[in-house]
Amino acid sequence: MSEPRIDPGAGTAVPPGFVIAIDGPVGAGKSTVARRLAEALGCVHIDSGSMYRALGWKALRLGVGLHDHRALARLAAGTDVRIVAGRSGSRVLVDGEDVTNALRTPAVDEASSVVSMCPAVRERMVALQRSMARAGGVVMDGRDIGTVVFPNAQVKFFLDADLTVRAERRLKDLQRAGGAAEPGTIREEVARRDARDRAREVAPLCAAPDAVRIDSTSLDAEAVVRVMLRQVAKTLASG
Ligand code: C5P
Repeated sequence: MSEPRIDPGAGTAVPPGFVIAIDGPVGAGKSTVARRLAEALGCVHIDSGSMYRALGWKALRLGVGLHDHRALARLAAGTDVRIVAGRSGSRVLVDGEDVTNALRTPAVDEASSVVSMCPAVRERMVALQRSMARAGGVVMDGRDIGTVVFPNAQVKFFLDADLTVRAERRLKDLQRAGGAAEPGTIREEVARRDARDRAREVAPLCAAPDAVRIDSTSLDAEAVVRVMLRQVAKTLASG
């Protein structure tokens, strides 16, 4: 997705405690639009996927079995994951160590997708996500934000796009990060992660009944953010 150009001041200030939830599958463009929406509204942006990535990264580093739920529960309980604002965007800290640059690899894609099926991992991440949002207005993107983490979020979006377009975006992300991959393999990987997210027992990927659905197949990020800003303004106006 291209970088959106949002007019300064296009957003409306949101009150403290205001939560905007953005859920959807891999490559729908959630993080890009969530970041820009948060900028436009003066909110904090939390990419919840990066927290599951952080735990997946730590499991790989320590050799913890990705399907060993007991070991993962211990790992999650003893891990501090934080998202902090840095000079070049958000940084992800695991037990105080900045691991941001290690989180966008195919191995971590897969590890995060597998460890996120573990109920104890989800419990820990959800608690951390809720505590991070206490301070003020927040835009949080993920898979279960509008359904589980913040079921009372003031505004919820479910962002989707065709699989082909999402796989192309994922490929570009990987290339930007200096990685190489074969398009067919990426498409399979994206489809596999989505299927796992939708089928898992705890907090499966699905749209909250009250989410506004947006299909970004033929919309660029700027257009998606504009639709979202209009919806936020509408919600604020309706009290
Ligand atoms: O969004 P991203 O692709 O970075 O997320 C990495 C993985 O973390 C996803 O494949 C998904 O399985 C998991 N995830 C989740 N719940 C969230 C955010 C991400 O299960 N709220």
